[in-house]
Amino acid sequence: MKTLPNVTILATGGTIAGTAPSSTQAGYTSGKINIDGMIQAVPNIEKLARVDGEQFSNVGSQDMSFEIMINLSCRINALLATKKINGVVVTHGTDTMEETAFFLNLTVKSAKPVVMTGAMRPATAVSADGPLNLYNAVAVAADPEAREKGLLVVMNDRIHGAHSLTKTNTTSVETFLSPVNGLIGTVIYGAVKYYRGPFRQHTVFSEFSLEGITALPRVDILYACADMPPDLIDCSVANGAKGIVIAGDGNGNMNEATLKKAAQMAGQGIFIVRSSRVPTGTVSRNVEVDDDTHQFIVSDELNPAKARILLMLVLLKNRSFQQVQELFYSY
Ligand code: GLU
Repeated sequence: MKTLPNVTILATGGTIAGTAPSSTQAGYTSGKINIDGMIQAVPNIEKLARVDGEQFSNVGSQDMSFEIMINLSCRINALLATKKINGVVVTHGTDTMEETAFFLNLTVKSAKPVVMTGAMRPATAVSADGPLNLYNAVAVAADPEAREKGLLVVMNDRIHGAHSLTKTNTTSVETFLSPVNGLIGTVIYGAVKYYRGPFRQHTVFSEFSLEGITALPRVDILYACADMPPDLIDCSVANGAKGIVIAGDGNGNMNEATLKKAAQMAGQGIFIVRSSRVPTGTVSRNVEVDDDTHQFIVSDELNPAKARILLMLVLLKNRSFQQVQELFYSY
């Protein structure tokens, strides 16, 4: 008889653990059901793997903090360092799932599968999507072929890479897309198919380490818009930001006044990353902005939320702006 792989599920909260007073109402509270209740709601999960659950936190992911993320990454590293555990699943709210996914993608130090999942409908809803998402996530975490693929996110039958995915719809179960460079694969009722590997460096190939780290440098995101007030940058810096990600318009643009202020701050050693508020496409160097002169960094494929995570990890060490730019092309 085939021995089943061992998969640990770490539950952090979110809608997958949410409940509502009725099965057809929109209002609900995230993070109410515990891990045992979630596992019990998934038929035949025991045929995929020997599943073990840990309640790690129980928050809506709008309340996910870097303290929880750092502890989560360390817990995953400890679990995967043991011989017994073959893969880990993390359940998480969808609001900030892409941030935690990208953070873990850069800080987990194992080739073993790590898969995140969640739900758009609370556990008590008619047609709740959580149980099948969890079933599919366990199937991927139990699959030896998911090794060395970085952190994967399984939602609505799709397997996304942490670098690529983004939430695109506030309520639909088909909310996550990988718009710039596509899916890693699909998983249909536990049947896993891969199309390609991850697109950038990750996990075992990542140079970022959380050893001895309990907090990260402050990096703010400023949303560019018509007639943007440049003093938002002063406010961030006055409050301790070491880096600023501009969610720029179009190809990472900002108005002249903000550009001038950003260049002045870059001259004083604040790292300025130009990303975009546009949901798809890359931000490229020296198009309408003279990045070389101003010593700006472009986010390339990373959206503002993920550019912020990368910059926070990058700033744990002293680096030149050219070195930081290279890291944005590698991760
Ligand atoms: N705010 C909730 C969360 O992120 C809702 C999103 C969800 O989980 O689907 O936890």
